[in-house]
Amino acid sequence: MIEIEVRQIVLAVAAVGMVAVTAVAGAQTAPKDEKEATDTNKKTVLITGANRGLGLEFAHQYAEAGWNVIGTARKPESATELNALSVRVMKLDVADPKSVAALASDLKGASIDLLINNAGIFPRVGSLEETDFAAALQTYEVNTLGPMRVTRALLPNLREGSGKTVVSITSGLGSIENNTSGRYYGYRESKAALNMFTKSLASELRDDGFICVVISPGWVQTDMGGPGANLTPEESISGMRAVISKLSPEDTGTYWNYNGDSLPW
Ligand code: NDP
Repeated sequence: MIEIEVRQIVLAVAAVGMVAVTAVAGAQTAPKDEKEATDTNKKTVLITGANRGLGLEFAHQYAEAGWNVIGTARKPESATELNALSVRVMKLDVADPKSVAALASDLKGASIDLLINNAGIFPRVGSLEETDFAAALQTYEVNTLGPMRVTRALLPNLREGSGKTVVSITSGLGSIENNTSGRYYGYRESKAALNMFTKSLASELRDDGFICVVISPGWVQTDMGGPGANLTPEESISGMRAVISKLSPEDTGTYWNYNGDSLPW
């Protein structure tokens, strides 16, 4: 829905003879200061953990589709691939409350239509005996509390936007009903808790017109997913963008797979 609106706006701008195409093309080579200025006619998406993996591909595809993209990274100065895109790059560690507050302060007054809570970690443990509780706690800190504190900090920006959409990237491993193989302690719980957060948020913000959902990206070839995964980032992100583009307020509080299937909680 959001993308259709963006395309309609771009077409309308072109129809009245404005140089929308030139502006988009110019952004490819614009100096840093200009690159960071946002175009108020476009929808804005903020993506956490956008320097590599799925976050980078989200940033790439939304920028290509004509959105204002804010891509965050823990180390913006070394986010080479992200900096090469036509996006605004901002610093954010979702596990650090001061970093989240600084981002919100820098973005004060700016509207955001779509927040994608993508940043995450996956401790490589299997059995309960192998589980490192400090790592499990850190996983909860990043995968669950991270999206909670980023969403809370950016709520004023989301209220200003017309999209009012919060997408948190969960995992199929977060499904309690589908869990027949066990293992992955720490990670599974962090994503199940992220799912619960999303359900609560959806209920709390339903009357304000918000759309809050969780989407599983599938098993994807990133540093986290490894080279043996069955999906490329392009395939996963294209699928998730299609899901997001079709969301309406009635969908708030739902759990999706990247291909548009519904997942059981
Ligand atoms: P990657 O490991 O490739 O990338 C993870 C991203 O998260 C990096 O940008 C990383 O930044 C960032 N990140 C980690 N910790 C923090 C933090 N404290 N603050 C801010 N950013 C942080 O993972 P993917 O791209 O594969 O995963 C993206 C999301 O998709 C995650 O939520 C993951 O759980 C989920 N997912 C992925 C699957 C897959 O198969 N790939 C399957 C199911 C779910 P840095 O470079 O600084 O570490």
